[in-house]
Amino acid sequence: MDHQPANFLLPSDPRTFGFFVDGKVVEAGSRPYFERQSPGHGVAVTRIPKCTKDDLDLAVAAARRAFEDGRWSRIPSVERASVLLRAAQIIRRRAEEIALWETLENGKPISQARAEVDGCAGIFEYAAGAARALHGDAFNNLGDRLFGLVTREPIGVVSLITPWNFPFLILCERVPFILAAGCTIVAKPSEVTSATTLILAEVLAEAGLPAGCYNVVTGSGSTIGQAMTEHMDIDMLSFTGSTSVGRRCVQAATGNFKKLGLELGGKNPQIVFADADLEDAADGVAFGIGFNTGQCCVSGSRLIVERSVARAFEEMVAAKFAKVKVGDPLDPATQVGAITTAAQNDTIMTYIEKGKAEGARLVCGGDQLDFGRGHYIAPTLFGDVTGDMAIARDEIFGPVLSIMPFDTVEEAIAIANDTVYGLAASVWSKNIDKALTVTRRVRAGRFWVNTTLAGGPELPLGGFKQSGWGREAGIYGVEEYTQIKSVHIELGKREPWVS
Ligand code: NDP
Repeated sequence: MDHQPANFLLPSDPRTFGFFVDGKVVEAGSRPYFERQSPGHGVAVTRIPKCTKDDLDLAVAAARRAFEDGRWSRIPSVERASVLLRAAQIIRRRAEEIALWETLENGKPISQARAEVDGCAGIFEYAAGAARALHGDAFNNLGDRLFGLVTREPIGVVSLITPWNFPFLILCERVPFILAAGCTIVAKPSEVTSATTLILAEVLAEAGLPAGCYNVVTGSGSTIGQAMTEHMDIDMLSFTGSTSVGRRCVQAATGNFKKLGLELGGKNPQIVFADADLEDAADGVAFGIGFNTGQCCVSGSRLIVERSVARAFEEMVAAKFAKVKVGDPLDPATQVGAITTAAQNDTIMTYIEKGKAEGARLVCGGDQLDFGRGHYIAPTLFGDVTGDMAIARDEIFGPVLSIMPFDTVEEAIAIANDTVYGLAASVWSKNIDKALTVTRRVRAGRFWVNTTLAGGPELPLGGFKQSGWGREAGIYGVEEYTQIKSVHIELGKREPWVS
């Protein structure tokens, strides 16, 4: 493990952002700022305005006007697609800058941020195609005189609340699909990682998105986020974050029955059978929990491994952890960066202590790494974990992996399903019967067989059980932002009701 600071990339002064309403940057003026420190370096990098509820009302009104006058919702889809394609080009042109802000605010390795930003450009390209592929249906089986049409119409003004773990990626898994459907947007990023959501406003404006179609209101979850969930003029809310706040969104949405898309927590199993390619599986399991310092809703935090190979496999994963390069997020060689917030750092360390206290065996890690600045935690592995322990049940959101052995396929499935969550799962086996039986029986919205965390915009994201409602991305993801209208057309003359 190493820490090689790349100080030359740190800004000498924090960059001050405005928020974005109706096609214009609005300077903070008398509003206070939230000052963000780089979690890897402890220096101030951005200043973000703390908006008020009045600011939110102005942004929603702008989005409403833009939606109702049809400047975006009623133009041909080919025109929407060309804006999305131009946005993809601009993201690629500005990729280095976007990746840098993402790393500075979030603490993720710069190499990872670069790959994510490149992936985001690809999502915009995919969504451009989806805009043109979106269509309704026709029914000519209603007899000679009645003809039926089903049209898909944009749902209206959509608000987006996004978390701090993948600020740009999660945003870009939603924004292009919402725009492809013809909706307008008011986004609220996490107050600790707002920069790239604001930069996307510049990108979209340059791409030719009409004013009012993408607005960003910055501020805390408890004020702006809560007000969004309660707002009477927002038609749909897409929320990504914790299950507890997701529950509050459901309660608050009853005011105007706004539609909800919810991507919430996960406690995702990685099931390893003795017949797997164990070397490949150990690497995948280490990646599945180490990626983004385990601050990932789909991270594989429960390792469910066949008992006959459990000890050997445990050693293989520990050996992988020992070689992982933890350190300065700005160092291109870093694989695991900083924990994004001090609060999250404390949460993870509290769970590690709980794991020890509840009798789990600490195989490796468990330490706070002291690089002189920022907050870092070593990838951590616990053996002898039982299903009742907090580290087996709760979403820790950190690089902490719990091992639970099994003897039969049925037992593996039962352990995997013993959770309130159902976001994602991985299975590692060369036996197709076992791999597919587990894939069919474990209740999760995303599944990986002999790999993990792979994907692209074609495949939808979302969870079973308390991991959420609805799907993002893919053609299903565009459809989420539409509603269906049934049209009945009489060809000829109705039978009179009153003769
Ligand atoms: P939260 O659910 O608190 O935050 C997610 C988003 O919701 C942020 O933009 C936040 O704003 C906003 N928010 C907070 N409170 C409200 C509210 N009352 N109404 C509307 N919006 C609100 O997650 P945290 O960031 O605090 O992380 C806590 C835990 O959540 C993690 O440990 C992890 O378990 C889970 N999590 C899961 C994620 C996932 O991808 N599924 C992502 C992030 C967290 P702000 O940050 O400005 O307060």
